[in-house]
Amino acid sequence: MARGQLIISIDLELAWGVWDHPTPEGLRFAAEDERPICASLVDMLDRHQIPVTWAIVAALLDEASAAARPGGKQCWYAPDVIERIVNAKSRHEIGSHGGRHRYFDRMAPAQAREDLEFARAQHRVHALQFDAFVFPRNSIGHLDVLRDTGLITFRGPDLGWFMAAGAAGRMASRTANFVDKMLPIAPTPVVARQNDEGLVDIPGSMLLLARNGARRFVFAAATRAKLALGLARSRDRKGIFHLWFHPSNFYYRRDEQLATLAWFLEQAADQASRGDLEILTMGECARRLIGATAPSGRVLQ
Ligand SMILES: [Zn+2]
Repeated sequence: MARGQLIISIDLELAWGVWDHPTPEGLRFAAEDERPICASLVDMLDRHQIPVTWAIVAALLDEASAAARPGGKQCWYAPDVIERIVNAKSRHEIGSHGGRHRYFDRMAPAQAREDLEFARAQHRVHALQFDAFVFPRNSIGHLDVLRDTGLITFRGPDLGWFMAAGAAGRMASRTANFVDKMLPIAPTPVVARQNDEGLVDIPGSMLLLARNGARRFVFAAATRAKLALGLARSRDRKGIFHLWFHPSNFYYRRDEQLATLAWFLEQAADQASRGDLEILTMGECARRLIGATAPSGRVLQ
């Protein structure tokens, strides 16, 4: 049976994504635009019955964590958004994007443990799964602590062809990265693998790029072509097309961005209905690989 797999992971963070460099504009977007964008995403995924992994910053569930932060509580505290996701028709997975969006490549083991234990406690209180992890800024570290906290899988760095250019220096890498995003070059299908710590690494294939600054020149048509190639390649190679993004990637040119994603989800749902594509969450993919049993509850109370 020749078919590819699709995994979509969404990093839900609101202002926690910019906690160390908040700007008035960023806070305004988090306060005013994040909720309507998330509502559109949930509706769109429901329309096609597509489940995804929402990696949430756990502090979004903790009112005390929002105290004394700039820009108003709604930028930092969003149980309403998470409740909407949990109550969607599509059976989404709630994953973790850390306790307070701290960076795992620059913290001590004790800090990593504290951050993850805070996250796990919030997930438990709200009866949310705690299987899948997305590193803030995709900065990997303390995998043993992840495993000890009970997580089973994480999103590894994207494996684009531009990664190879890294050896040629930072500028070359950045230029190649930009070219990669500009042109309809096929995203690389990925393979989920269990690493030495026993965690399942599911690398990203493609970031659905924001459209501010120079990136506004990335045409919607090029993005659609890349998305279609991503699905086709994963089918041809029986790999995983792992698409990821943040709601903030829809802050600019929102309607055009949403239309691009809607178009993609329609393609994916159509291929899935014909048996050409399987749509999985990160946790499902990992449990299948390691033969683990059912997820821990999903109902927000
Ligand atoms: Zn983040």
